Amino acid sequence: MPAPELPEAAHADLDSMLSRKFGKEVANYFSGPEPQIPLRPSKLTAPGSPLNRVSFLRTDHTFLSRALKHPTTSFLLFNNLAPLGRDPTKLEYVSYNDVKPLIGEDPYSQTEEELISSYNSARTIPQLLFLGLDESSKSQSKSSSSSTARNTSDNSTFTYNIYAGAPFFALDVTPRGTHTAPANSLISTLQSRGLSFLEGRMHTSLPASTAAIYAQSRALLDWNARNPFCAQCGQPTLSINAGTKRTCPPTDWASLPSATSTSTDAAKPTQRPDCATRKGIHNVCFPRTDPTIIVAVLSADSQRVLLGRQKRWPQYWYSTLAGFVEPAESVEEAVRREVWEESGVLLGRVVIHSTQPWPYPANLMIGCVAQAVGAAPPDSAGSSSSIQRAGERQENGEGENVDARGNRGTKGTPEEIMLKHDPELEDAKWVSLEEVREALRVGTHNLLEGGGMGEGYREGALRLPPRTAIANQLLEAVINGGWNGLGGVKI
Ligand SMILES: [Zn+2]
Repeated sequence: MPAPELPEAAHADLDSMLSRKFGKEVANYFSGPEPQIPLRPSKLTAPGSPLNRVSFLRTDHTFLSRALKHPTTSFLLFNNLAPLGRDPTKLEYVSYNDVKPLIGEDPYSQTEEELISSYNSARTIPQLLFLGLDESSKSQSKSSSSSTARNTSDNSTFTYNIYAGAPFFALDVTPRGTHTAPANSLISTLQSRGLSFLEGRMHTSLPASTAAIYAQSRALLDWNARNPFCAQCGQPTLSINAGTKRTCPPTDWASLPSATSTSTDAAKPTQRPDCATRKGIHNVCFPRTDPTIIVAVLSADSQRVLLGRQKRWPQYWYSTLAGFVEPAESVEEAVRREVWEESGVLLGRVVIHSTQPWPYPANLMIGCVAQAVGAAPPDSAGSSSSIQRAGERQENGEGENVDARGNRGTKGTPEEIMLKHDPELEDAKWVSLEEVREALRVGTHNLLEGGGMGEGYREGALRLPPRTAIANQLLEAVINGGWNGLGGVKI
């Protein structure tokens, strides 16, 4: 299966001081260029998400209602987070008429305030999510329209105020609660057309434009499904803002207080117990995004790269180090902490290279390049010690390294690998630039979906993540150029 193309970075060709100093911006798989409306025409053919999210229209139910019913609107369906498609390289979109038996004539016929005041916890509502407008569809002929759009014979363009484009929605059709029967019926109908919900933990063989839409849909549908109750008071919540927020309604029309079955509407709504989320401005629950660092670590002399492997990974497969950013921790601190905890290596400068949404379930991978400290860190008086090269020991007089903040490290040099702190890695090692370069050429391998080695790969040689993983992009940047931001160090 050929690797998909990566998205083109927004304004990749724009000349600026930053682009001259740090090189071309990199966009990773699952992301796309943010719509820059005045510059949009030049980006029409760029891979990456074609959707303008128009997030400010998510509370406008007149807009949502019209977008929902337009003949050019596409719905991406998920069943237990498995997307509807024909094969792992092609998702399928369906129409409003297809989903109407499940979602009803118009779930946006009432305002958000009316929906909250008529909330009934005994009725489950299929989770619908407005994704955005495909602006590329408004100015292209039918034959060249976006490859992401649903095939339709309708040539009309959806417009609302100054906004135009084919609307995209995602819908969770997982059979649940009171909509189990219509959901099962819809699933059967789709299966009878030869479509299926594509199982599998990850979907990284989709075209970049589809992958960005899939990632946005999956992350938000998963968040809604995982958060049916209020984190403050434990009562069921209601999805609002076109699927991007959840609120804790003050009243409930259910005839039973915790009905999940066949209870009917009560004669009048019950006042629910008090909840702190209904006071002040923090009255909704927002989706999570979990920041995660991932880092290509260079040795002090820029001749080697630090790689690690987990026990469950395929043989010979290594990657860059990664870990979660903790609360009240900067990205730079998280990088230094994770690398020290997992490998014992002490880092100096850390710079952010690019980022990648990773919808499993809601991570934002913050890709960094960092360099091991080669010189002794400043002593407590702040003066700089003599230059130390790889292979030399730098100790504090008690046989231990001390990092830049004065924390005690391990015995040995700042580049010495020590796996005893955190058992996450089975192995970590410094690898020469030549070996990494060769592995990028012939030894990239998709961790979960398989894939053959490139021509010339020797069994037993280093294997690395594929181009759809940000780890690959970080290694590409430090090995093959496009990166000269490390304080003037030419790699
Ligand atoms: Zn609550």
